[in-house]
Amino acid sequence: MPKTAKKPTRSKLIKKLDVVFSQYIRLSNADGKGMCTCVTCNKQFHWKNIQAGHFMSRKHYSTRWNENNVKPQCVGCNMFKSGEQYKYSLFLGNKLSNDLYLKSKELVKFSSQDIQDMIDNYNSKLKLLI
Ligand SMILES: [Zn+2]
Repeated sequence: MPKTAKKPTRSKLIKKLDVVFSQYIRLSNADGKGMCTCVTCNKQFHWKNIQAGHFMSRKHYSTRWNENNVKPQCVGCNMFKSGEQYKYSLFLGNKLSNDLYLKSKELVKFSSQDIQDMIDNYNSKLKLLI
């Protein structure tokens, strides 16, 4: 009997994309020694010890995997200070902050295939960084 490959559920795909996208954001912003700077407090951390913080919340799918909306951010700023959105906007500048704010309000519906495509895309981008 042939083995039937079970299709991953949408929520599993989203989880997978979150992981690979977060890795890409941190690694693509790391210096030669693997160090990243938190966009809201300027402290340095190794990429494995920093998070990928969202300017507009992850709940907005239209900007959830937008590279302008997600930058390295330390646990202190991202979790304990709820993202420091005001400081984040200073880092991004007025125009980008506004654009991301408007974009986050757009309703998008990614299909499972769209999400799989993004996973593949970020996996291959990651391979070039490691
Ligand atoms: Zn910080």
